[in-house]
Amino acid sequence: MKILVINCGSSSLKYQLIDMENENSLSTGLVERIGIEGSKLTQKVEGREKYVLTVPMKNHKDAIAHVIDTLLDEVQGVIKSSDEIGAVGHRVVHGGEKYSTSVIIDDEVMKDLEEFSVLAPLHNPPNIIGINACKELMPDTTMVAVFDTAFHQTMPEKAFLYGLPYELYKENHIRKYGFHGTSHKYVSQRAAEMLDKDLKDLKLITCHLGNGASVSAVRGGVSVDTSMGFTPLEGLLMGTRCGDIDPAIIPYLMDVKGYSYDEVNNIMNKKSGVLGLSGVSSDFRDIEDAAAEGNERAKLALDVFHYRVKKYIGYFMAAMNGVDAVIFTAGLGENAVETREEIISDMEWFGIELDREKNKVRGKERIVSTDDSKVKVIVIPTNEELMIARDTLSLVK
Ligand code: ADP
Repeated sequence: MKILVINCGSSSLKYQLIDMENENSLSTGLVERIGIEGSKLTQKVEGREKYVLTVPMKNHKDAIAHVIDTLLDEVQGVIKSSDEIGAVGHRVVHGGEKYSTSVIIDDEVMKDLEEFSVLAPLHNPPNIIGINACKELMPDTTMVAVFDTAFHQTMPEKAFLYGLPYELYKENHIRKYGFHGTSHKYVSQRAAEMLDKDLKDLKLITCHLGNGASVSAVRGGVSVDTSMGFTPLEGLLMGTRCGDIDPAIIPYLMDVKGYSYDEVNNIMNKKSGVLGLSGVSSDFRDIEDAAAEGNERAKLALDVFHYRVKKYIGYFMAAMNGVDAVIFTAGLGENAVETREEIISDMEWFGIELDREKNKVRGKERIVSTDDSKVKVIVIPTNEELMIARDTLSLVK
């Protein structure tokens, strides 16, 4: 069976068609600037030139119609009939407390997704729009929702509750949810395979370091804690997000600087993180380049970022009474050799030692700790799309 994986953002959409016979990716694509001038679809198929289609796409339904047309195209396509798409797996950011696993989408699920939109106002609405567009275009195809929050639903209360009045949890659902669950789950499973161990026997710390970044503690294959919280703002410093700060800073800023709710929100989400500290960029490559050229604030931003990741690794070692492997994934985790070096430096006391030569790897699976290191350090490129397709297949079967 072939499964189409859709990840819908507010003005963009990523897709991948995967043949589940052999888990081969047949085509990956990105639609950008949906509903904005300059809409563009880019598709990659192995062994072929990249294909770019520039046509106006006024909404997500238009975009998905072009995706299907492209997949079916005589020259650019990879399938002959839309019947070959056995099911569609949708990445959905928030599944609230109700969904701890993926589900087949029906009317009740759609109602729940609408309800959870208050918890993820930037993410769930475009996910819903994407699902509705697919349902209209492929009314007879089974749709599955795979939630970013689901993997973390195993966290115990002591990890997910905040020190706020309990009623705010019960009545307003304020608790830690965690995100990037599909990625943390995928790399945990791969780590067990690479170490040739049963996942049930392992204590893992998974570092998903991309533009958005989070660290998770995974014990026996289930998430027991994670750095992101009620929203993806908590935890690590990120490209533009501040991560953990003293909550008292917010009313202080509103009082002293006269900032509105929207302004504070915008500063914390869009103007902070390594961008805010460095003043250079939100892209780690730009900051690394600037730091290499002697830009002190760029160096400082990287220092703060590395230190924060190191601290979370420490928290989670304490939470699990040790760790068997620390895993690095996502844009930065998979590619940034020096970032891994800085984070893992000076951790010999914990039995973690990086092999600097082995660590010179980008975008490939590899154990990069020394042979003697008690704790393994592993680089694993994430594959959220494959994880979504696997969940979709298992539900459809
Ligand atoms: P997201 O999916 O959250 O948008 P990604 O996982 O694609 O993010 O990660 C993007 C980040 O990874 C960017 O900040 C980028 O600079 C960084 N990155 C990608 N490749 C490299 C590299 N070779 N060296 C350093 N950083 C890299």
